Amino acid sequence: MTQRITKLADLRNILQGHRQKNQKIGLIPTMGYLHEGHLSLVQAAQKTCDVTLATVFVNPTQFGPNEDLAAYPREEEEDRQKLASIGTTYLFTPGVEEIYPDGFATTVRVEGLTEMLCGTARPGHFDGVALVVSKLLNIAQADQAFFGEKDYQQLLVIKQLAKDLNVSTEIIGVPIKRADDGLALSSRNKYLSDQERAIAPQLHATLQALCATLKSGEPAQSACAHAVQSLLQAGFGAVDYLEYRDATNLQQLHAYNHTRGRLFVAARLGRARLIDNIEVA
Ligand code: AMP
Repeated sequence: MTQRITKLADLRNILQGHRQKNQKIGLIPTMGYLHEGHLSLVQAAQKTCDVTLATVFVNPTQFGPNEDLAAYPREEEEDRQKLASIGTTYLFTPGVEEIYPDGFATTVRVEGLTEMLCGTARPGHFDGVALVVSKLLNIAQADQAFFGEKDYQQLLVIKQLAKDLNVSTEIIGVPIKRADDGLALSSRNKYLSDQERAIAPQLHATLQALCATLKSGEPAQSACAHAVQSLLQAGFGAVDYLEYRDATNLQQLHAYNHTRGRLFVAARLGRARLIDNIEVA
């Protein structure tokens, strides 16, 4: 059984009890509408932690004014059942007023890493992420916290803030979980029509083909430009970015660099904005 907790004070008391017993706590922050990708984070936590704490909170501060906050898919009971089916210990589902009480006035900003890729297309997004993750890390005081490589830039931002703010929780990245056809699982895949869902795997396929092109020696700029054209031809509405960057600091790479390279893409398909990334090794 997964125990659901909604109040901060209750969560603190319960976690304190586990800490007194020297039990290792693993934190898994999510925005809900859970799929196998989220569950893989819990399963990673179960390998090293005694207690798993998944949180479901659709964080308003990370959505821009024209983004999908109100429409973001929510399925509380299904989420609880999925978490219970794999033996998650706790589910924390705070209300917005619990996390952002009246008079809340603090911001958290990670410079540098947030000023590119998704940071360009979604101004303020990573400030909201950094804020809520800082709060959840503080609240849980977990031994480890688990984040998906699906949101690779977010993972680096969180590692940076944890380091800069002397957070003692270890930040762990978990590989991307994909559908059989290669599409990275995402709550936003729900927005795709059947026709768009058939096009969507081209995102991953294009990254794989681009990876091979880079390895054959073509400069990154022209290889990426060709790949953008093929995405547009496949039916994507717009490509926010498609770039070859250093996996540790997100600096642009100009040609195949087998020790540190990663490809990053964000593209619009119908109502959805899909992101993906792969290692170029
Ligand atoms: P979200 O609910 O979209 O905010 O995601 C919550 C966490 O799950 C984040 O750390 C994501 O990176 C991670 N996640 C989402 N989709 C996947 C996936 N397909 N594979 C692995 N992790 C994922």
